[in-house]
Amino acid sequence: MTPPSPVRALRARLLAYYDAHARDLPWRRTRDPYRIWVSEVMLQQTRVAVVTQRYERFLARFPDVASLARASAETVLRGMGRLGYYSRARNLHAAARAVERSPRRRMPESARGLAELPGIGAYTAGAVASIAFGERVPAVDGNAERVLARLLAHGRRKSTAVSEIARALVDCERPGDVNQALMDLGAVVCTARTPRCAACPLGAHCRGRALGAPERFPAKRARPSVAKLDVVFAWIPSGGGVWLERRPLAGLWSGLWQLPAEEGPRARGRLAERLGVDLGRVRVRVHHALTHRSVEARVYVPSDAPHVRRRTLGARSRDPLAAPLSALARKAIVAMRSRAASR
Ligand code: SF4
Repeated sequence: MTPPSPVRALRARLLAYYDAHARDLPWRRTRDPYRIWVSEVMLQQTRVAVVTQRYERFLARFPDVASLARASAETVLRGMGRLGYYSRARNLHAAARAVERSPRRRMPESARGLAELPGIGAYTAGAVASIAFGERVPAVDGNAERVLARLLAHGRRKSTAVSEIARALVDCERPGDVNQALMDLGAVVCTARTPRCAACPLGAHCRGRALGAPERFPAKRARPSVAKLDVVFAWIPSGGGVWLERRPLAGLWSGLWQLPAEEGPRARGRLAERLGVDLGRVRVRVHHALTHRSVEARVYVPSDAPHVRRRTLGARSRDPLAAPLSALARKAIVAMRSRAASR
């Protein structure tokens, strides 16, 4: 498909917009590929405002690839704080170790090389390569994709037409700025629900706007079906602390800590069987919504806690909220503590 107007004019408008209105974000004050990479990992499915608070703290703790590679996986998980997506932290850590094992002990300088590291997909590779190394590669996140789909009045996401125009736009001296301009435009002007076309530098070239209903593009994603998941936790106090266990390294909340738990059908019975005690009655209930799951958790306090089979437990923690917990376990522990405080 032919672009709706000369790519050069679009690019000039994007760069002028970026020069005048670029968001002042901490990771934009550097060309250090490591720092840019960390920001991109943190920004996956997390709001800019939340990442901004955490980013500097993480970098103060892990200022370069070597310090990240040297740290334990557990410390990196803690360093990500409550950003929630632990597989991100694990991949970041694994990739840092891969870089440290490589002959040059430096991050690859091309999108192709970056994409070979654990957890780095096409978008992140494109963002780091274009911003840090000036490689002419696109980095199309959800915001940029929306802008381009509207510009072309294109219904499908991940279309060839969108990829082609993204590639054409970055074929210039400032590919990183073009990519970031598209991201900013999508975040601030061409927003999902209410695009501000009158304020948009691309307005004169935009087919979606010309058709009078830019919000129609791209087509909305089908709503994912949401499955229900039942989780049963046991609150087992011991020596001023509480017992925690680690989740398996694969699957939901992989590698994170939680109260001893079972989930799915007959969860309560299976947990009682494993612990070798009666769980008693429910003390608190918490709910957690994920994209594909609605999780309902119940917390029990076995009356016979001293007789719990401890070999089935993980570790005792005096400060469980300081552990790298799953979001659900954190909610459950907070709820248990506020229940205790209100009594
Ligand atoms: S003119 Fe409107 S729909 Fe088109 S890119 Fe700009 S804000 Fe989005």
